[in-house]
Amino acid sequence: MELPCQVVKAMKVLEKAGHESYVVGGCVRDSLLHLRPHDWDICTPARPQEIQDAFEGYPVVVTGQKHGTVTVMMDGMGLEITTYRSDGAYADHRHPDQVRFVASLWEDLSRRDFTINAMAYRPGTGIVDPFHGQEDLRTGCLRCVGEPEKRFCEDALRILRALRFAADYGLTIEADTSEAMRRQREWLTLIAPERIMAEMNRLIVGKEAGKILRQYPEVLAVFLPEISSAIGFEQHSVYHHLSVWEHTALAVESAASVLPVRLALLFHDLAKPQCFTLDKEGCGHFYGHGGRSSLIAEQALIRLRYDRRTVEQVTRLVKYHDTPIEAAEPAVKRWLNRMGEEDFRLLLEVKKGDTLGHAPWVVKAGMERIDRVEQCMEGVLRQRQCFALKDLAVNGVDVLKAGIPAGPKVGQVLRWLLEQVINGGLPNDRAVLLEAVRDGGSQEDRSRES
Ligand code: ATP
Ligand code: MG
Repeated sequence: MELPCQVVKAMKVLEKAGHESYVVGGCVRDSLLHLRPHDWDICTPARPQEIQDAFEGYPVVVTGQKHGTVTVMMDGMGLEITTYRSDGAYADHRHPDQVRFVASLWEDLSRRDFTINAMAYRPGTGIVDPFHGQEDLRTGCLRCVGEPEKRFCEDALRILRALRFAADYGLTIEADTSEAMRRQREWLTLIAPERIMAEMNRLIVGKEAGKILRQYPEVLAVFLPEISSAIGFEQHSVYHHLSVWEHTALAVESAASVLPVRLALLFHDLAKPQCFTLDKEGCGHFYGHGGRSSLIAEQALIRLRYDRRTVEQVTRLVKYHDTPIEAAEPAVKRWLNRMGEEDFRLLLEVKKGDTLGHAPWVVKAGMERIDRVEQCMEGVLRQRQCFALKDLAVNGVDVLKAGIPAGPKVGQVLRWLLEQVINGGLPNDRAVLLEAVRDGGSQEDRSRES
């Protein structure tokens, strides 16, 4: 296993001070999967004070003396160094009441959540893997360390971590672990929304997010009750061969792995059950479900403490997911003006995911429609065509100088000019636009006089 030089150096510092140490947890797992670990955690029997003493002269932050974590800045890399510990009882199903420092690595590994996360490594010693995490990685199995029932009861966040790891790494959750998750799911109500959001974000962009949505809807519904009515809801539509929830799962997994896109698809059809009508021919319709689903998304995202930008972005993507977009320059420019390039591109990704989740016989035509819109947008952007007020060849000052009185009229005139430029009625040319302003003004004078 290859360790970054900063990690090797930190382990040597500890060794010199007489303490053994191991890299542990996520970094061992990711290294074995040939993925680049995003952080390197080190564990050692040394007590927090001993760790600080060993790293005298290095920038050190004690992130939780009580929990035994010391963060050392080693040549630009932040390393968390944690004293071997075992957790005491968990009264609140989330935090151990007390942490006990222990002398054995084995004990530290046994309090970790899943076998794939309960491995340590030390050059010279090799991989320490008492719970057969390597084998589970090889076979793609996510399994609790110890008794699943007890582990999820101690800390309910582990239920959601299990879903996240399974979605992210494409693992199958072992049967006992899976059953315990379902049985203990109600404890998730005790978990802070911020923690749920963090795990949810990684779950939803995971490569097997669709599979997890299909397999564990009742677990997700504990903190997302909004999905309940979509589960098993038949659509009675020629465009759909799946229930609302199955379609949602397929749309999510078919879409680009981009957080706002995946979140939008998670919520995009949740109002379908409340908007459902059946016509005389027995066909299902869902008039207005985009707008209503967007309200559902807004409520849920705010409750889970998403930031304002994400709430706005996702709710807007949900609102327009179903609105037809004409593949013509004026229409595309109006969309670009309304949403901006970044969000309009995301909307097209949402539409692609949604379309790929439709019945197989309508997918091809739907994807071609989106493709034509995308081509049109690329043309508009490549030619740097004007679609926003800031790109207009005249501004407010010009309009004032051309004789429009200060006030709301200035904005109206600018928006009118922009619309003329967008629909091709006028070129984006300063002289021509100013001329049009003067003309418009004098026409108005004349109409007032007559
Ligand atoms: P990533 O950093 O990719 O999110 P990770 O496995 O490193 O994954 P962290 O939250 O950084 O996750 O935790 C580091 C290690 O601490 C885990 O690998 C696991 O061994 C242990 N751990 C984290 N959270 C829990 C928990 N809720 N219960 C038990 N062990 C945990
Ligand atoms: Mg980590």
